[in-house]
Amino acid sequence: MNACPPLKVLMVEDSPADAEMVLRALRDLGREFEHVRVASESRLRDALSDFAPDVVLSDFSMPGFSGQEALEVVRVMAPHVPFVYVSGTIGEELAILALQRGAIDYVLKDNLRRLPSAVERALGIARDRCERQHIEQALRESEERFRSIVENSKDWIWENERDTRTTYSNSAIARILGYRPEELIDTLAVEHMLEEDRDEVRRRIPELVAARQGWSRWRLRWRHRNGGIRVLESTAVPRMDANGEVIGYRGVDQDVTDRLHHEARIRHLARIHAVLSALGNTILRAQNRAELMDHVCKVAVDQGGFKAACVGEPRDGQPLALVAGYGDPRVVELISTLGEGAADCGDDGAMRPGVRAFCEGRNVIVRDFSCAQGMPEGFRRAAMEAGVAAQVALPIGNPAWGVLGLYSGSVQEFDEDELALLQRMTDEIDYAVDFLAKSERLAYLAYHNPVTGLPNRSAFREQVASLLEEGRVAVAVLDVTRFAYINESRGRGFGDALLREIGARLRWLVEPDGVLAHAEADSFLVAYPANGGIQAEQDRVDALLERFQHVGFIIEDEQIHAELHGGLALGPDHGRDAEVLERNAMLALAEGGKRGVRLHAFTEELQGRVARRMELERDLRRALDAQEFELYYQPKLDCKTHRVVAAEALLRWRHPRAGLVSPAEFIPVLEETGMIVAVGHWVMRTALETVKRWRGAGHDDFRVCVNVSPRELRNPRFLDDCRELLQGHAAAQMIDIELTESLLMDDIQHSVQSLEALRQLGCEIAIDDFGTGYSSLNYLARLPVDMLKIDQSFVALITESPQSLGLVTNIINLAHSLSLAVVAEGVETEEQAKLLRLLRCDVLQGYLIGRPMPEEPFARQFLGIDATA
Ligand code: C2E
Ligand code: CA
Ligand code: CA
Repeated sequence: MNACPPLKVLMVEDSPADAEMVLRALRDLGREFEHVRVASESRLRDALSDFAPDVVLSDFSMPGFSGQEALEVVRVMAPHVPFVYVSGTIGEELAILALQRGAIDYVLKDNLRRLPSAVERALGIARDRCERQHIEQALRESEERFRSIVENSKDWIWENERDTRTTYSNSAIARILGYRPEELIDTLAVEHMLEEDRDEVRRRIPELVAARQGWSRWRLRWRHRNGGIRVLESTAVPRMDANGEVIGYRGVDQDVTDRLHHEARIRHLARIHAVLSALGNTILRAQNRAELMDHVCKVAVDQGGFKAACVGEPRDGQPLALVAGYGDPRVVELISTLGEGAADCGDDGAMRPGVRAFCEGRNVIVRDFSCAQGMPEGFRRAAMEAGVAAQVALPIGNPAWGVLGLYSGSVQEFDEDELALLQRMTDEIDYAVDFLAKSERLAYLAYHNPVTGLPNRSAFREQVASLLEEGRVAVAVLDVTRFAYINESRGRGFGDALLREIGARLRWLVEPDGVLAHAEADSFLVAYPANGGIQAEQDRVDALLERFQHVGFIIEDEQIHAELHGGLALGPDHGRDAEVLERNAMLALAEGGKRGVRLHAFTEELQGRVARRMELERDLRRALDAQEFELYYQPKLDCKTHRVVAAEALLRWRHPRAGLVSPAEFIPVLEETGMIVAVGHWVMRTALETVKRWRGAGHDDFRVCVNVSPRELRNPRFLDDCRELLQGHAAAQMIDIELTESLLMDDIQHSVQSLEALRQLGCEIAIDDFGTGYSSLNYLARLPVDMLKIDQSFVALITESPQSLGLVTNIINLAHSLSLAVVAEGVETEEQAKLLRLLRCDVLQGYLIGRPMPEEPFARQFLGIDATA
């Protein structure tokens, strides 16, 4: 098998005999061939196109057709097909002529042995010729391709000599620098660069030439024909001569001006974003307004890269006085010495930027101080001397109460996006100031009783703790005798006024080394370092009570007599911390009440109560197994829809002998003993079963919230138990959680994690009894919670005491500003409900809507489900 197709031979020959000879000679070719014989021009043409020969063998002279004519036809029609004369006689002259015309060879008929090698050679020559033509074609095409790439490139492609004399340039340069290529040829490239960069190039090129190196991404600044500056990024390789010496360079320069510009802007905006987020942290950390302003300035300089930042506010008749400043001391110094000075207002009424921003309530931007107008010349010069090149002055608040001035050391373009960000920054500051004012008030409330302004229980406990570190301490709980009666008969306003007077008198009576607090309602606390035994201390407090009731009070023009009665405990004998001492003093007070004595001291005998408590504890321990616990449900009303949308589950204990026991009595015991964990689990499980039943009856969105106590949340198993129960409902959770805030604040880190986990289960989180504990707003903002429940003690007073109303208003606004919903607890009257609606409270809960009740009556009354039907 021969893979090679047979060779096609076209013979131009009139004599069949000669043709036969030629064919015989061709057998020595050593390969198969086929042939066609023609003897006229027309047949030759047909054969050339139909037969497509690999080689033409032609006689020289034929009747009516000549070998020369045949050659012509072949040259035109099939120029790549080799042509060989096979002839009887051919003179030397004709032979030379034939070869010149394009025949490859000639073979004499009387020497046909040479024919096979002549044909092989002709084929070889034709093949070479053909290949060369191909290569030439490819070269032409590639050259064309590169020329078009180079010419159409957006980048500048160039060649130069060692002295940067340009020898070639594509036309991109017209767009980049504004010159036509021919204008640049033979000029020095360095002449079009900025001076600083020109020097650099002149210094570096000889080094590169010596090292036979090119360069990559060399950034240089060029002067556009129109005077503007363009930044080009250059990459080049050396051009060498035959000896390997560098004669110049060939390279590509990319115009990166716009890109750099863009990048710079992104960096700039990123900086302001950084300022904004740092500002958010600052707001949470700042304790007061002065600290906040200092932080703001510091953030603007450290994160925002400004040279200096100042906050100004009107003070003592000055249009703007410096209240905070940070950064370059020269700038801060300059701003702080301004104000009353003449630099403020020029004769023509020109104002410095800060004052203008404040007066006109709009952003004032100075992009370049060197050519700025409309400000007092004195200020402009002083600012430039301090190194200020640009400034933006932003009013804070609407109407403005202050101005934030940001100073930059370089000329600045403040564009739309940037200004919008800066605007947000001042909004944040304004919000933060507002927020601080409120949280300062709440922080005050956290340590003070809202009625009397005296320190509250939390403050008291802290102070007693430090007294205890120094020695023995007497702790007395003092209650106003028959206060409930006074309160009810004269009204709450009267009662509050009386409490204030009582507080004032106690403040005056308690010795300076003592501590006084107003714990709640009519209950005051006193503590002082104890020198004697219990009897001596009892005498001392008794003397105080005596002096207290010596004179009456005048409230609302009415003379009223008030007395105190109390209990006393001595630390550390009766307790090692304030909480225990207070509890024991309270036990003593209750005991004194039963016995009708004004002041009773804690005694060993009273320990009996502890014993009784042990009994309670024992009873509780079997209560769960004995199925003595029940769950009651209290409705929650949505103010918008006026519908009961949820219920709070409240625990009840049906004691076999004592009957229904209030949670206030046994929950503290459950907590102290840790039993609350197991009971809490039962509560959640039972509540879940109930709400499932209700949902099954068509109340698809109904939710039940359960109270979770500190001890439970801290229990490591708590979250796992919740997950086990609640997982799978996350998309439409039925159970929400109420927690008192004091516990959350103790370990904020852990709290945040636990709450986060509960939320992932779809539970909403409410802060219970809000306002009574350590209401720290700073922390609150960090807690993942959804709702605040305003404590019922505040709700009870809103229609009577303006202070309570103010506090509730504040809490609601604040909660809303933190995107929290607000639930009011203990709503008992229509009047309270109406007021709370007006204040935009979201949910109401209390006896007015419904009392806590067992599952069935609840379902009947609020869900229209009748289990007996
Ligand atoms: P809480 O969570 O603040 O529950 C609200 C209390 O206010 C309930 O007392 C409720 O009966 C009462 N209440 C509701 N509306 C009114 C009203 O209009 N006026 C008045 N004066 N009171 C109203 P309750 O049921 O005695 O529960 C007392 C506390 O015991 C609860 O206070 C809660 O802290 C705790 N507690 C109840 N159930 C559970 C429980 O399952 N687990 C835990 N850890 N604590 C519970
Ligand atoms: Ca609750
Ligand atoms: Ca509550």
